[in-house]
Amino acid sequence: MKISCNMIRDLLPLYVEDLASQDTRDLVEEHIASCENCKKRLEEMRTFEEPPVDTDIAPLRNLQNTLRKKKLQTIILSVMVTLVFAVVTIAYLTTPAYIPYNEYAVSIIEKDDGTVLLNFSEEVSGFNVNQYPAADNSGYVYDITTWETIWQQKINKNDLDNTVLNPNGETVASIYYYNTDGMENTLIYGEPITDGSIVTLPRLVLSYYVLLAIGLLFICGIGLVIFRKNEKIRYGLEKIILLPISYLLAHLLIKGLHSSTYLAGRDLYLIVLVSISLYGALLAGKSILIKKPKSTL
Ligand SMILES: [Zn+2]
Repeated sequence: MKISCNMIRDLLPLYVEDLASQDTRDLVEEHIASCENCKKRLEEMRTFEEPPVDTDIAPLRNLQNTLRKKKLQTIILSVMVTLVFAVVTIAYLTTPAYIPYNEYAVSIIEKDDGTVLLNFSEEVSGFNVNQYPAADNSGYVYDITTWETIWQQKINKNDLDNTVLNPNGETVASIYYYNTDGMENTLIYGEPITDGSIVTLPRLVLSYYVLLAIGLLFICGIGLVIFRKNEKIRYGLEKIILLPISYLLAHLLIKGLHSSTYLAGRDLYLIVLVSISLYGALLAGKSILIKKPKSTL
């Protein structure tokens, strides 16, 4: 059968819309290659914006996209909530319960080559060491403490190995055991560095971050009141304000109402992890519940 120009033109709409089968496509392309008129017709159709067929599909496509987006957001929300729950659980199980000074918790082993080893008792799950130079330049002073965790006691019992206190051959002038209840430090090795008592104090760095978060929350709150009529700015601010909210919630989940810490690094790390997951969860939750303004679509 001979393929006429009319037949090709009947097929062109399907071809342009990408709805034709491969056989039809081949047929159209073969004809176009040798027929200037139909080629021109095709180019005209292609330059037309939005052929009539498309207007019928567009709303469907939008709906499909919206559904796909909602599904994705729901998945993100569940993953993030699970993450928050997991990190908070791990944080709780590994929260240090500090062991007040007792002569069994840690003992010092001094070797001939000047290496000093810490030997921990079975109850000890973790320890911390602060090192600083002695005032009389006789070497370094070490403040150490130990703790237990629920994880170690109930789930994964394994003893701490002996730990070298001075891996780089530093001279150990004295070692103090510090308590976290405000009691004075106990000298457990070497000479006392002062006649008076020493107390190792917790760090307050987390309080500053809490204050920063409250400040940002406050600023965003004012911004939201000022720009309540400007949908675009309000939408942006609503996203930003979730950051300090996530941080403060994360702090509450990890530290409760306290902010002083003997392990600033650990606590901050956990708080940031929970903040990120919470922020993701809040953003996803917000998108599921609230529609975006049209202007940002
Ligand atoms: Zn033709």
